[in-house]
Amino acid sequence: MKIVLDHLTKKFISRHNKNEIVTAVNDFDFEIPDGKLVGLLGPSGCGKSTTLNLICGLETPTSGRIFFGDLDVTELPPESRGVGMVFQNYALYPHLSVRQNILFPLENLKGDQKLSKEVMEQKALEAARLVQIDSLMERKPNELSGGQQQRVAIARALVKTPGVLLLDEPLSNLDARLRLQTREQIRRIQKETNITTIFVTHDQEEAMSISDLIVVMSAGVLQQMGKPQDVYNEPVNLFVAKFLGTPAINVFEGCIKDRGLYIGEDLIGHRDIEDQEVYVGIRPEAFDPDQNGPFRCRFDRVETTGRDTSIVCHNDHCISDEDVRAIVSADEPIAHKDGIIRFSLKQNKVHVFSKKDEKVIR
Ligand code: ATP
Repeated sequence: MKIVLDHLTKKFISRHNKNEIVTAVNDFDFEIPDGKLVGLLGPSGCGKSTTLNLICGLETPTSGRIFFGDLDVTELPPESRGVGMVFQNYALYPHLSVRQNILFPLENLKGDQKLSKEVMEQKALEAARLVQIDSLMERKPNELSGGQQQRVAIARALVKTPGVLLLDEPLSNLDARLRLQTREQIRRIQKETNITTIFVTHDQEEAMSISDLIVVMSAGVLQQMGKPQDVYNEPVNLFVAKFLGTPAINVFEGCIKDRGLYIGEDLIGHRDIEDQEVYVGIRPEAFDPDQNGPFRCRFDRVETTGRDTSIVCHNDHCISDEDVRAIVSADEPIAHKDGIIRFSLKQNKVHVFSKKDEKVIR
């Protein structure tokens, strides 16, 4: 089922100041294709949960429409939308077993939607199998790990075979290892069921690793939507460039002079644009240590974490929060002379942004 957000806006009266209006979602106008897993990504307070709540019907838009396929669902109550929802805090019933928790939404069906006991049991078992907790059906939630509890919550959301599955920070309460495992499970379940799924997270790595498409938002405004790798490779503005990637992109003050791209005195590339001050974003993997390279930094140290070797150095024009960080291959010789290390730069990993509006200049 495709989801269309048609100029969707949600405003609230500020919780802190009754005279202030907060625009949590500002004119969202995009389509989520059928059968895809879409990661909704952005910093805290950017409007991710509000977007999910609008889609499932827990919030009413201030303006705009929502369509599921061709059906306008804007006025439909949540229970008529066919949406499965999973929250961060699993919200399982502690006194009910896994089986009873999964059965719960089916037992509450009314009128001609009511199912026989056998059909309900069958559906609960199928959902449990899908999330691989069918061997734990008689356990209570407190006898399960966090990851297992979250899978029960997903089974409960899937048992009514929803057309749309919404996951609001479903991995936040899990430790690092379980997060990895559970996110792979979510990917597998989504592929097997082919249910259009929206996954909210503030963790860019999580979104990038499992999503078909990511939607990056900031302060209620859509910044960029696309395949994770495309958005990473071709960010439309400085915010997106900084938000995606660990370690983060290195940002410098630079300028264009006679088609040359400069950071300080160093001519690091060429751009066919008029003279101006710019921001230059250089991905950590863009740096190649090279004794004849054009870009000079003051060497500080080498750090090795797992497979990555980082060269940490300084440059007076760097405006990132941290030092300049270059990720290089462990086999690469790292030569520095009089405290200066030189790099050549992979040009497709160097992005130039306007100083006026921070949009990319290609
Ligand atoms: P987080 O990652 O912290 O959950 P989020 O990206 O999900 O954040 P939202 O919870 O959607 O962000 O909130 C977006 C903005 O709208 C915030 O400024 C928030 O304070 C405001 N907001 C959300 N719900 C309400 C409400 N019911 N009343 C007033 N303001 C609200």
